[in-house]
Amino acid sequence: MKPQDRPQTRHLLRPRGYPDLLSIVIPVYNEEESLPFLQERLTCLVNRLPCAAEIVLVNDGSSDGSVQMLAQWAEADGRVRLFNLARNFGHQMAATAGLDRASGQAVVLMDADLQDPPEVILDMLEEYRRGYDVIYGRRTSREGETLFKRFSAWLFYRAIRLLVHADLPADVGDFRLVSRACLDAVCSMRETHRFLRGMIAWVGFPQTAVSYARNRRVAGKSAYPLRKMLWLAWTAAVSFSPTPLRLSFVLGFLIAAIGMLQAANAVVRSVLGLYVVPGWSSLIVVTCLIGGAILVSIGVLGEYIGRIFEAGKERPLYIIASKIDRAKPMDLDVAAQLAFISSKQLPERMPAEVSHKP
Ligand code: UDP
Ligand code: MG
Repeated sequence: MKPQDRPQTRHLLRPRGYPDLLSIVIPVYNEEESLPFLQERLTCLVNRLPCAAEIVLVNDGSSDGSVQMLAQWAEADGRVRLFNLARNFGHQMAATAGLDRASGQAVVLMDADLQDPPEVILDMLEEYRRGYDVIYGRRTSREGETLFKRFSAWLFYRAIRLLVHADLPADVGDFRLVSRACLDAVCSMRETHRFLRGMIAWVGFPQTAVSYARNRRVAGKSAYPLRKMLWLAWTAAVSFSPTPLRLSFVLGFLIAAIGMLQAANAVVRSVLGLYVVPGWSSLIVVTCLIGGAILVSIGVLGEYIGRIFEAGKERPLYIIASKIDRAKPMDLDVAAQLAFISSKQLPERMPAEVSHKP
């Protein structure tokens, strides 16, 4: 079933106008080769948009020329807000930082490498006007990506849908437009191990897709090597559901059952006098199986306990080291409040620089 056909959300569909302000959030990590293309394409697009727009750039601890290029862009264009994170926090955290700071009524999250064409935003806005709260880009083809990357991406979405989120749309990345109502819900979820796609699917609201062909990167190379992809897949699996925990239980149960059968077999044979060779090898096999099952289960438990430990520390999700932000004072208030929430403190008292503003 397509998400837009879900009966639970159909009644929420209300046609509306364009958003007053559209925020385009882009995490950037070592993209010096892509940035000139991005700046040109995006500036062109923003000038054509039927509504006002701001561009929220999050520099995720880049170590190349991106830092200066982003700063120049933000200095030159008042619509651009730049936040420099204190180190590389990873794509999901950088995206979270940008989403927290976005002040638009609708927010688009996209990559810096132009793999997802920004012009699709125009189609997304039309769906927004129809009343959808989440409009994700669905990739119909993936140009310029290796067979392995395509296969692993295909497998990733199918496995996650089967095991964890039946609602997670397939072949959909983080490129999407989200309404303010949905974004506020996502921003209120301060979990340490984040899988934004899953979180947005979890929140609900009417969701729909616009299709587009995924291009090759304009320049540079992917900062998502196999290691990071596997890590994201694991986070997607264990941050969202106890299914892996249950799997390990089922696995342990099956293996223990095999051990029982083997033991029954040995007893019956010895009673009936069929016992010929001392069953040393079967003993070892069974011991190994049971030992393996126990270790797997403890390992999975450990993963969850590790995550509880991480979450228990209640650290902020990311740290902003500097910014170039000419947002209005009212927006600064919102940003200050979000900073409080991101460090999980209640905004009982506003910081001096904000509370003493006229
Ligand atoms: N990115 C980031 N932090 C990281 C890795 C990537 O902010 O640690 C950004 C990167 O600059 C790009 C986006 O996340 O804008 C997607 O990364 P990439 O294109 O390398 O991933 P792929 O498209 O290959 O999955
Ligand atoms: Mg990319």
